[in-house]
Amino acid sequence: MEFPITELLDEEESAEWILEHFHPKGLNCPKCKRDVEQSRKFRRTQTSALDVQRCKHCGTIYNLYTGTVFQGSQWTPRQVVLLMRGICKGETTRELAAELELNYKTVLTMRHRVQANAELEQPNTAFPDSHSETDEMFQNAGEKR
Ligand SMILES: [Zn+2]
Repeated sequence: MEFPITELLDEEESAEWILEHFHPKGLNCPKCKRDVEQSRKFRRTQTSALDVQRCKHCGTIYNLYTGTVFQGSQWTPRQVVLLMRGICKGETTRELAAELELNYKTVLTMRHRVQANAELEQPNTAFPDSHSETDEMFQNAGEKR
């Protein structure tokens, strides 16, 4: 079954989910590592509607995707959550592309990035199936190498 499930998930809840799973220690400046509290909201990205922070200490600009495999992408938080969910559930790229209303190639490229990151961390593990391994995969996706 294919339907535009992206309409059913709230962007803010999705952003919170990403923060929790990709930045388990909280968002901070990628350069000087100071907490997000020590930054100010600089602007909002257009397509993905993310708050862009500017560090008050070193002036570095960053957002929720900085340092993750989604850095520089235009994906909305909702699409990111659904991609991760789909990969975990073993959905085909074609199904995912339809659900996310993104083109096949875009989804395939991102899927490969997420999986390559997960494999770097766990070279001998097949696809994550337990809850803790799934959590680990999310955190791996949150640490771009
Ligand atoms: Zn900084």
